Amino acid sequence: MKKVFLFVCLIILVCVSFSQQNNSPLTQVDPAYFFTHSREDLIRKLVDLPCGIKADDPLKVMLKKIESFLITFVPEKEYEDDEYAKAANIQALKSVVQGGYGIGSVLVDQDGNIIAYGHNTQIQKKRSDLHAEMTLMTNFEESHKAKKYMNLYVYKPGLTVFSSSEPCPMCFIRISTAGADTKYCTPGPEDGMVTRVNCLPPSWQELALKNRVEIGDCSPIMQKLSHLLFYSYLLDNRGPH
Ligand SMILES: [Zn+2]
Repeated sequence: MKKVFLFVCLIILVCVSFSQQNNSPLTQVDPAYFFTHSREDLIRKLVDLPCGIKADDPLKVMLKKIESFLITFVPEKEYEDDEYAKAANIQALKSVVQGGYGIGSVLVDQDGNIIAYGHNTQIQKKRSDLHAEMTLMTNFEESHKAKKYMNLYVYKPGLTVFSSSEPCPMCFIRISTAGADTKYCTPGPEDGMVTRVNCLPPSWQELALKNRVEIGDCSPIMQKLSHLLFYSYLLDNRGPH
């Protein structure tokens, strides 16, 4: 009887810790905000941002206003990851300005320093694999500084890939393979893999959960901006047709 009781307690403990790891709070933003399916919906949300965007602004003007806002934005101190959210969003915006998709990533070391940057370059370089995290990790792994932070193809403990949006299955698996922690600014309720880690084959799930995988502690405005940059392709219908 005692063994059964202990077993039940163990199961409850595992379930509670698993749900805590994969259902982090989204701060004050309504989860419904993270669904944007039309250009009109996207523009309405962009106009609502404190960036001075008007519904009839040309794309270039909208992006310039977002850039001015981001550059002068002071990360909110009560959100410990806001600095990384700002940096990842600046990367995401860089891609949008280049004609690409609005996702950016930064690599953070164990002391909280940003040591590498990357943004999505699929459209720019005509390559299906160049998501923001993939670009970031390849840039980093091929750089001289990688020697200090890597053991063969595995990252030394304490590195975090911080993305503007929840990583997709491809990127999440690569981050897991490298042994880095995963954090992100805005959830991807329709495409993100982090919150679906329990759908992975057992070995990959075990590998992924050896590291921290969670949504970052970011301000609502950074979360909203990450989301809207992700869906910015709706503004001019860029990408394959
Ligand atoms: Zn990806």
